[in-house]
Amino acid sequence: MIKLIDKLEATQSLSKEEWVELIDNRDKDSSEYLFEKARKIRHEIYENDVYIRGLIEFSNYCENDCFYCGIRRNNPYAQRYRLGKDEIMSCCKEGYELGFRTFVLQSGEDSYYTDDIMTEIISSIKEKYPDCAVTLSIGEKSKETYQKYFDAGADRYLLRHETACDVHYKKLHPPSLSLSNRKQCLFDLKEIGFQVGSGFMVGSPFQTSETLADDMLFLKELNPHMVGVGPFIPHHDTPFKGYPQGSVELTLFMIGLIRLMLPNALIPATTALGTLDTLGREKGIQAGANVVMPNLSPKDVRKKYLLYDNKICTGDEAAECRYCMQNRMKSIGYDVVVSRGDCKNINLRESLPDLKERK
Ligand code: SAM
Repeated sequence: MIKLIDKLEATQSLSKEEWVELIDNRDKDSSEYLFEKARKIRHEIYENDVYIRGLIEFSNYCENDCFYCGIRRNNPYAQRYRLGKDEIMSCCKEGYELGFRTFVLQSGEDSYYTDDIMTEIISSIKEKYPDCAVTLSIGEKSKETYQKYFDAGADRYLLRHETACDVHYKKLHPPSLSLSNRKQCLFDLKEIGFQVGSGFMVGSPFQTSETLADDMLFLKELNPHMVGVGPFIPHHDTPFKGYPQGSVELTLFMIGLIRLMLPNALIPATTALGTLDTLGREKGIQAGANVVMPNLSPKDVRKKYLLYDNKICTGDEAAECRYCMQNRMKSIGYDVVVSRGDCKNINLRESLPDLKERK
């Protein structure tokens, strides 16, 4: 396995068969070897810095029905809420005072927020906080709509591809959703000029090392600025309530692999990782991640944005989350920094082909 990790480091790519072999045959020694390399590369580019993002979960209404997700349309027990512009602005105010310079606006797929409403929210944030980045995570839209968000000032967009295997995608989603549209959205976002994030859950039902290999090949092709991977955690009111949760160990291994394949990527140590392991986010950073996303949503709505069971930090104030994260990172020798935290474009090795060249 050491040989394959060395090859990945040198060439930043592997074949499908090699990905499968590496994932299937990982063990404690190869993981430690991988994490050491991942940390070294991450330090060369981002030093000891950890970027923080203020996550504002502004609506849990969702028109989609993804089988894994607690806020899916067909969960009658989800208590729905929406935040208006003023409430979102006051989250940003609190976040700015706490040192956040990126706001992540996330929601279900909620058409209540028309293009006009969204662009008004985005431009108000950018006007008031011109030194901050706005990241959107609000799902699949038309290219025209993405362009409007971009023109209003949005900087980044997160849209996990969830799985790059068509057959697997169909097992996780209703027929109205397709992998090809998901991919198209990602390519549209990149073409418009967003910093784009993709990713997947580790341990989602029916996932195999082959589908994970497909995920790595797709990420290589997309060459995103950000990659979010977190363990699947069942939610008690979804069709996947009886499926086992994903493994922390495999999630960390995938983070290490992604760092070697895409050295400059912004990779969060996710809340889902922290939900399954008290030290999950620290372990994520030590496996090669460089971003954490403390919650900035108002306290009274946090318990309602329940994508999966036992989600952590739903009872804390924003300030508590912010300083808790700083202390956690300090305890492992990393520094939370006050910065937009953009993707650094340092080519340690050969540069990856850009999307435009790919076409
Ligand atoms: N609606 C937007 C979208 O689909 O991109 C953003 C919100 S969506 C709830 C954000 C992410 O939550 C999804 O991309 C998915 O990977 C993750 N998620 C949903 N249910 C989950 C679960 N049961 N366990 C872990 N992650 C989950």
